Amino acid sequence: MFTKILVANRGEIALRVIRACHDLGIEAVAVYSTADRGAPWLDVADQAICIGPAASSESYLKVARIIAAAEVSGAQAIHPGYGFLSENSKFAEQCRASGIEFIGPPVAAMDALGNKDKSKTVARAAKVPTVPGSDGLITSLDQAKAFAARVEYPVLVKASAGGGGKGMRVVHSPDKLEEAIDAAKREAAVSFKDDSVFLEKYLDRPRHVEVQLIGDQHGNVLHLFERDCSLQRRHQKLVEESPSPNLPDKVRQEMCTAAVRLAKEAKYYNAGTCEFLVDQKNNFYFIEVNARVQVEHPVTELVTGVDIIREQIRVAAGEKLRHQQKDIKQTGCAIEVRINAEDTAHDFRPSAGVVKTWRPPGGPGVRLDSHVCAGYRVPSNYDSMVAKLLVHQPTRAEAFAVMRRCLREFKVEGIHTTIPILQTIFNNEAFIEGKVDTTFIERELMKKA
Ligand code: ADP
Repeated sequence: MFTKILVANRGEIALRVIRACHDLGIEAVAVYSTADRGAPWLDVADQAICIGPAASSESYLKVARIIAAAEVSGAQAIHPGYGFLSENSKFAEQCRASGIEFIGPPVAAMDALGNKDKSKTVARAAKVPTVPGSDGLITSLDQAKAFAARVEYPVLVKASAGGGGKGMRVVHSPDKLEEAIDAAKREAAVSFKDDSVFLEKYLDRPRHVEVQLIGDQHGNVLHLFERDCSLQRRHQKLVEESPSPNLPDKVRQEMCTAAVRLAKEAKYYNAGTCEFLVDQKNNFYFIEVNARVQVEHPVTELVTGVDIIREQIRVAAGEKLRHQQKDIKQTGCAIEVRINAEDTAHDFRPSAGVVKTWRPPGGPGVRLDSHVCAGYRVPSNYDSMVAKLLVHQPTRAEAFAVMRRCLREFKVEGIHTTIPILQTIFNNEAFIEGKVDTTFIERELMKKA
């Protein structure tokens, strides 16, 4: 087992990983940019190394500096968290070439699944249903028009390298296709330095359901059941829960086994998520794999009792998974909300600044993953998430009641947060009944806002 791990991230996930290291008796080395100097999670780490200025391109994305920090500190492994370098296979390769273990999947699996278009080929090989579409990249307008006509409008133009809802355009008619392809390509070129795009049928009000996977280096892969992440704004998740409400058990089982099949096809290990869309008839379609730990992983930790970060570290060290599929149970209902420093009254614009009051809720079955405390300055350089608030209760109704109480209790002053809109969401009848889909927020809530 490792004795020292470097955490190549910031904020709540850096703190989460540092804690997991300490729980395993491992020392944790933090890295930080000058914008994060003095940040609370650095205090919790055993060592903290400055790796550059505020711009992430000059710090959290600087491969050479992060590897140098690991070498200088004597860390044997690097945990990338999510975002930043977590899905960069070249980074994983360089870590391993330097004799430092990258806590994540093998490079070949990252390459095969890291790109949405390529990952659909793997899914088809594993007999996992995919959204009908172009079955390959778009190379000409005529070809795109032919694909779109075959699957019927509306269609979605998607960047193969896409993420975070970027590089996607919905198209309702043939005359708008060229414009959408150009716009998606431009956005993808800027965001991902890769302008390849493909086409998918745009499903009508689907639900987003994803399966958590964990595999070891000995060929064992387990699923840890599913999470429902249908509540999204602009294709970005706001609320996640497990189990997925109103999902027939047979479909749940089929999705979970399909996800394991896909992981085995790709010879995957470590943590990963297989994302699906579920249509109104409960047909499910693979959309992508996130080859890393996700923001919403604690939802699954609460219902299964498996500490995913600890498991990631153990399997990276070569240990075998300590569970068998039959031992993994989904107990009760867990819900997570993402609390962002954003001003909901002004189109969710980021709200950086000093947190004056921070009084989080608590009580039985409440978990808060956050790096924030009173006096903390939320920098404007990074993602705006300031906390993940979770509840775990025997039933969904109880989870909702506790979440409502927690959101009422949570007092934050000095910055704007998304707490008010979350309160509205948790009082919405359709959501309470579990009747939501990925367009719900825009359809039901934003038009009134
Ligand atoms: P990203 O990697 O940018 O997050 P995804 O492929 O995971 O992109 O899709 C994000 C969200 O976009 C999905 O959860 C869903 O809401 C929507 N979406 C993606 N593909 C489709 C589709 N074919 N039809 C309808 N909605 C889709």
